[in-house]
Amino acid sequence: MKKSCNKHFNKKMNYTIRQLLIFIFLTNIAVAYAQMKNNNDRPKLVVGIVVDQMRWDYLYKYYQHYNNEGLKRMLNEGFSAENTLIPYIPTYTAIGHTSIYAGSVPAIHGIAGNTFYIKETQSKMYCSQDDSVKSVGNDPENKGGKMSPKNMLSSSVTDELKLATDFRSRVFGVALKDRGAIFPAGHFADGAYWMVDGNWITSSFYMNDLPSYVKNFNKADFTSAYLSKGWQLAKPSTSYMSRINDDNRYEERFLDSVKVTFPIDLSTISSKKGRDVIKSTPFGNTITLQFAKELITQENLGNNPAGVPDFLAISLSSTDYIGHQFAINSLKIEDTYIRLDKDLGDFFNFLDTKIGRGNYTVFLTADHGAAHNPQYILDEKGNGGYFMKRELQQDLNNLLKPEFGTEDLIYNIANNQVLLNHKLIESKNLDTERIKEKLVTALKKREGVSFATDMERLQVASMPEWIKTMAINGYNYKRSGDILIIFDPQWIENYRDKTGTTHGAWNPYDSHIPLVFMGWGIKQGNTHAPVYMTDIAPTIAALLHIQAPNGCIGKPITELLDK
Ligand SMILES: [Zn+2]
Repeated sequence: MKKSCNKHFNKKMNYTIRQLLIFIFLTNIAVAYAQMKNNNDRPKLVVGIVVDQMRWDYLYKYYQHYNNEGLKRMLNEGFSAENTLIPYIPTYTAIGHTSIYAGSVPAIHGIAGNTFYIKETQSKMYCSQDDSVKSVGNDPENKGGKMSPKNMLSSSVTDELKLATDFRSRVFGVALKDRGAIFPAGHFADGAYWMVDGNWITSSFYMNDLPSYVKNFNKADFTSAYLSKGWQLAKPSTSYMSRINDDNRYEERFLDSVKVTFPIDLSTISSKKGRDVIKSTPFGNTITLQFAKELITQENLGNNPAGVPDFLAISLSSTDYIGHQFAINSLKIEDTYIRLDKDLGDFFNFLDTKIGRGNYTVFLTADHGAAHNPQYILDEKGNGGYFMKRELQQDLNNLLKPEFGTEDLIYNIANNQVLLNHKLIESKNLDTERIKEKLVTALKKREGVSFATDMERLQVASMPEWIKTMAINGYNYKRSGDILIIFDPQWIENYRDKTGTTHGAWNPYDSHIPLVFMGWGIKQGNTHAPVYMTDIAPTIAALLHIQAPNGCIGKPITELLDK
């Protein structure tokens, strides 16, 4: 009896142990599976936002104006890399957008300017120019639409997402400027849209006809609606910090005879200058984000049937047009950032509802900053100045004439580089080295020039190491000029009769950009350690567990990854 009881007990025990072992085994599998799944988790949508010409200090200069839903939300909830620097010169739009998404520099990705010159043929090339494609959404031969990313020699992080998911991820680019939409979206994009004459268009590189929702958006003509409302200050005028009178000598007018003071009548201006005037108002950004919302809804982005992330690359270009025209201390720029902050807040709220808070990752950065208006700095007793490109070219040609017997040895001055007329030099069998030597010597003596150097000898130039590095990174032998000119701080080209401003130089005002990440996979915090524009793409690649772009020279910013 006792024996059988024991037997029964043992049997029961064996059964329990077996059950326990099976349970442990299954639990282990479940945990391993969960971990495996966890390690390969990704956001549903990545949204990249490049604010064209946004200086880093705008995050704080206008902080008091921001509400808790836009830029402040990014700073409070997200991670800000406070010292993000551009590691190359020249600091222009096309290069910035390409470098952000390629994690690379002009020496490698080949976008050496908004416009650059092909050395071999001595021909001018607009960054996204592609004569082999047609414009889609307007006249097929419209030059504004014959665009593609073909001049970009390396891949973008958006391209790598496409490759990593066997083209299941969907990628779109949206910006008023073609170059702001095209390079970020990369070579494999499902679509890129930009604005010509107030309408959203694309090129046959992407598709042969606009989707019906894009046609309908254009038909609804929000552009004209914004223009007819005009531009008033968003807040009572007393709450603005700009101490420059609304009508001042540092701003360029839309029309020669008409002062640009608030409230600005955009109807009259657009009736004379066309509907693209919207680009030079804050409503250019508003309509871009409005179009982005429509695209997310219609394309169902962030809800990919394959369960992989989608990517939307947005660039907000109006900030650049407005900065160029009115300079950076204007009431117009202050109002533009107040309105941008509100538009961003609305956009993040939309993403929360559509994709779900915490399901998407967004990052915001800039392609470059901008200088102060030099005349403003001079009037305030600072240093600065202007150079005239045509005058400089003429002086240099005149300098060479007596020794070389010909007038046009300088082909152009572009991107702060002197381009030699190599065809002429070859045909006359002239000594290129001697020409360069003479030019460098003369340029160094010129007022407003800090350094001048042969671009082939950057490594041995007597310049601070960091500027030298920026110059080498920006130098593409086939697409850059022959002699680099570095101007003194606050010296810019005078192409608007001393009004407005520009960018392109090495100085912090042009090269220090904001970089804030928020959402899925992002820690809350900030760092003051220097990071570089080229670190953005590898950081996104790390977040998505995909390969960094094929020309990437940056490193992931590991502090912000919540892993
Ligand atoms: Zn610009």
